[in-house]
Amino acid sequence: MPIHEKSLIRPEDLHTHDELVIDGVDVSGHWSTFIESRVVSDYNEALQDEIEALPGGEYIHRCWQCGSCTNSCTVNAINPDFNPRYWIYLIRMGMESELLRDKDIIWQCVSCNKCTYACPRDVFPEGVMKATAHWLERKGHTSTSPSTHFDTVFTEQIVATGKIEESRTIRRFFQRTKQSLMQDWMIEMVKKMVSGLPVGLLARMGLATLVAPKTKDWSRASAAIQEYIDEQHEKQGEALDLVKLARQTGDTKAA
Ligand code: SF4
Ligand code: SF4
Repeated sequence: MPIHEKSLIRPEDLHTHDELVIDGVDVSGHWSTFIESRVVSDYNEALQDEIEALPGGEYIHRCWQCGSCTNSCTVNAINPDFNPRYWIYLIRMGMESELLRDKDIIWQCVSCNKCTYACPRDVFPEGVMKATAHWLERKGHTSTSPSTHFDTVFTEQIVATGKIEESRTIRRFFQRTKQSLMQDWMIEMVKKMVSGLPVGLLARMGLATLVAPKTKDWSRASAAIQEYIDEQHEKQGEALDLVKLARQTGDTKAA
């Protein structure tokens, strides 16, 4: 049988023989390529429900596997292993162990939403990528991703001050992800800012970095946003617990 999508087969599952003759026909080299057969026995039947329970994953059941998301994907153009269509397929099939093989690249979605606009079924693939990355973290399959660290730092700043001050966001993001601030691109950017921006603006930016300015009367809005965040977090935890409970009791309606 011809190999239609060789890129989807793991290299370790492809075998060739340097010297092989079958029925007198020399099929050495790539002519004798075999695909290692595999048996998937550890289906997670609740996988789709678990992803659907997280924000962004709600419409994964609509996918009809057309591939427009992957075809239009910014990250896929650089790294063909980044394949939203394939991951959606694995989730819908409950193939958790296969999905886990790509656990370290799923968070790399840059939220450009090209897939969202390309999708004919309104699956919201960008949301599914976010939901899947959060699911991996919540299940302990991956540590907190740089993307989640960034979202957390950004949100903390909004809740605390009602404003975004970019240099503080970047500084805190680098601290959380244990990265040095002295990176070549950063030094280059600061040099360009110092030489290109008006002194008054630079002084205001420097002051805002040292003393975090706050939106006037922000405390009530801040409390309301924090309450909403806590509520959402609790709701997601409950939804995942419900899925787990339904799985244990065999009651699919509870999920
Ligand atoms: S939002 Fe993510 S998955 Fe969608 S096209 Fe952009 S990088 Fe790819
Ligand atoms: S574009 Fe939409 S329907 Fe097509 S494979 Fe991607 S998510 Fe599924």
